[in-house]
Amino acid sequence: MIQFSIFLGENYLKKVEVLVLGAGASGLMFASLNKNKNILVIEKNNRMGRKIIVSGGGKCNLTNRFVSEKNYLGESKFIKDVLNGFTNRDVLKYFEEVDLVVKKKNQFFCKNSAVDIVKFFEKRVKSILFGCEVLDVEYINKKFLVKTTKGNIETKKLVVASGGLSFKELGSSDIAFKIAKKFGHNIKTLNPALVGFTLQRDDFWMKELSGVSLKVKIKVDKKIFYDDMLFTHRGISGPAILNSSLYWDKGFIEIDFLPNQNIELKKSQKQISSNLSLPKRFIKEFLKSISLEDLVVSKLKKDELEKLKILKNYKLSPAGNFGYKKAEVTKGGIDTKEIDVNSMESKKIRNLYFVGECLDVTGELGGYNFQWAFSSANRVKL
Ligand SMILES: Cc1cc2nc3c(=O)[nH]c(=O)nc-3n(C[C@H](O)[C@H](O)[C@H](O)COP(=O)(O)OP(=O)(O)OC[C@H]3O[C@@H](n4cnc5c(N)ncnc54)[C@H](O)[C@@H]3O)c2cc1C
Repeated sequence: MIQFSIFLGENYLKKVEVLVLGAGASGLMFASLNKNKNILVIEKNNRMGRKIIVSGGGKCNLTNRFVSEKNYLGESKFIKDVLNGFTNRDVLKYFEEVDLVVKKKNQFFCKNSAVDIVKFFEKRVKSILFGCEVLDVEYINKKFLVKTTKGNIETKKLVVASGGLSFKELGSSDIAFKIAKKFGHNIKTLNPALVGFTLQRDDFWMKELSGVSLKVKIKVDKKIFYDDMLFTHRGISGPAILNSSLYWDKGFIEIDFLPNQNIELKKSQKQISSNLSLPKRFIKEFLKSISLEDLVVSKLKKDELEKLKILKNYKLSPAGNFGYKKAEVTKGGIDTKEIDVNSMESKKIRNLYFVGECLDVTGELGGYNFQWAFSSANRVKL
């Protein structure tokens, strides 16, 4: 790999054939797949793949055993076509030399460290300019003039792989959306996703449960997630909630706190808390919230038994979410209707390509977002 570290200077004009904006998952995959072409990658950070390194708790959840367009929010047909061109099996084959393990039955992680993925790319990506932030792009004489903090770069083809808005400290910026807008693209409303929810007053009792985690079933829109939910001092989180945030817009989500248990308690001589397979702290706060004491079940009145049934169908209207600082991804993005699915080229302007998270395609938790970054990068036909 050649690292360009020189300051190009205000008046210096470097000329390249293909410029890739961003050395994240999609930019690196594109440059790696096209290593025989004359490509320059520019990156504002001083190292590549910073999100890859922190992802999956430092082990990078690269892909999933089961991947389909149903795991994504966005235009189904577009997503399906792109995924089919470079499937999860293709990803696994491509990263054959990296030691991977399967966790939670279906998710592929690095056995040792996510750094292995970055090292894999370091061997393959030829030219990269670090510490170079793109500020703006102009189109002059059928070429792109890319204005950066290290001077101007002229390129014939520009591949925008600069991701979404979440985790700014890892390098995120709005440059993809700025460029897309400038060239007449529609941007579908952007929002943090795969993120925890903040609570409304009615649900503040959950704030007393910080640190408690339990398995729940959540229904949001037409989706159902069966996974862990975690209570935090700010609100609610955990995989079931993060996935729900992808499909939640407004209104309520339905939580079943007892996905494996029937609530028909009948005439038990035990207290409520002993009848329900829920953490004691949870039951205590829940009962407080519905003004019910932890009585012997057989002594409960009909309306009190009814109140308990809320546990199977708790309607929670989030106040909002924890924001881009905590969100794993940005949902919404560049409208895929204006992108050629066969080449990822903009339908508005020739030789401009968009890949990865900046597009209006967002995956669920479980390796789907890297899979998308890789599949979309593979789809680029220059
Ligand atoms: C904490 C965390 C954990 C995650 N874990 C997983 C996981 O385990 N599995 C999974 O599938 N997904 C995971 N994701 C999501 C995944 O990281 C992203 O969806 C994916 O990296 C998107 O790839 P991308 O190439 O579009 O953007 P990125 O990987 O974000 O790359 C964009 C690159 O562009 C650079 N850049 C941005 N603006 C500019 C600019 N103006 N000038 C120059 N360079 C710029 C950035 O510094 C960055 O290097 C996680 C995300 C986070 C935040």
